[in-house]
Amino acid sequence: MCGIFGYIGQKENAAATILNGLKTLEYRGYDSWGIAVGNGRTLNHEKHVGKISQARVSLPLSTFGIGHTRWATHGGVTDANAHPHLSCDAKIALVHNGIVENYQEIKKGLDKKHKIVSETDTEVITHLVEQELGSKDFKEAVATAFKKLAGLNAIAVASSDGQIAVAKNGSSDPSALLSYTKKVIFLDDGQLALLDGSGIAVFSLANLRKIKTHPQTLEWDSVEATTGKYPHFMIKEIFEQPKVIANCLTSLAKPAQELANEIKRARGTFFIASGTAFHACLAGTYLFSKIADYHVNTAVASEFNYLEDFLTSKSLVIALSQSGETIDVIEPLSRAKKKGSKVAAVVNSLGSTIYRLGDVKVLLGAGPEKAVASTKAYVAKIAFLILVTYSLIGKIRTAKELLAAAAQETERLLGAQSIR
Ligand code: GLU
Repeated sequence: MCGIFGYIGQKENAAATILNGLKTLEYRGYDSWGIAVGNGRTLNHEKHVGKISQARVSLPLSTFGIGHTRWATHGGVTDANAHPHLSCDAKIALVHNGIVENYQEIKKGLDKKHKIVSETDTEVITHLVEQELGSKDFKEAVATAFKKLAGLNAIAVASSDGQIAVAKNGSSDPSALLSYTKKVIFLDDGQLALLDGSGIAVFSLANLRKIKTHPQTLEWDSVEATTGKYPHFMIKEIFEQPKVIANCLTSLAKPAQELANEIKRARGTFFIASGTAFHACLAGTYLFSKIADYHVNTAVASEFNYLEDFLTSKSLVIALSQSGETIDVIEPLSRAKKKGSKVAAVVNSLGSTIYRLGDVKVLLGAGPEKAVASTKAYVAKIAFLILVTYSLIGKIRTAKELLAAAAQETERLLGAQSIR
């Protein structure tokens, strides 16, 4: 995991904007950080080991740039290994999330003149882009390089002439954008976006043809993405639980009925999830069984392959995930889709990979959850499953009454606590 934040526009202090963005992404990676900015002629960069929360930058005024908070996978936690990584001619800077599984091979294929100065898998991508630039324009060079990477990766590449290119194959997380905009374009895998200060253009990675995209509006509030009056996200999210339960009661009743209808139509329903979401699935299994007299199969997503032989075109696979980016869940879901099974995605993040894979899509609406230990998203999943259970037996009103009481009782319990 790591955080990537880029800026391109009119503001002269791109570095300060990027630093702020990275601070809101710290929970995605916190061993080191770095920023590269440009002014249309040259790139300047700064990178450091350590926490970003107290960090300051001393980069020159500039109108565009990219930044990164790292969670090291290849190479120790050092300034040299921190991102961005620069090309030999310092005209390209690159930040990366993921693991380049074939980086050794790519490294071997680079011209000998490339000077590798870090131990990361990331740096080879920068040199690969530089090498491709010998015969291609920026967009084509980044696309060609990206297509050579094996594994799940996301990159942002800044060029000294004032362009940024981004491509991804895997996750996305828009919460750091909330204090600037609510309009976002979710890039699909297999797409590349090019930003040059006058706009954004999205292209197919396969043939570089332009693709029409439509911005989506995030419903999250920027206040929800900060700690506010609380000392940390964990306690804030715990205290948000009553509001989340009350919200589920009103906004999730309809999606719950729709999912209940799908469950009734299906021949065999499977719950899959990882970690905390798996425990929500287990609770759902018991609720379905005891209250609605319905049997569902539940599996830890990474072990779903033991049950997959039972999947048919009539099966329904319900995946639960806070981020919508859990790789252990994405893989079996993709296989289930290949078998023609229907997929229901119950997630907390609009535009996430699992959300997009869903034939039936349910947004939990718990707001950004940043603490690693899940609280309010877990509670939202349970509330939703209670609504589905009672929808199966035509008693949604009972579920609503139960949830209203739960919201009140949780509020009372938390009201008796002091925040430390
Ligand atoms: N594999 C890269 C590294 O170790 C990126 C890690 C990340 O996603 O933060 O530098």
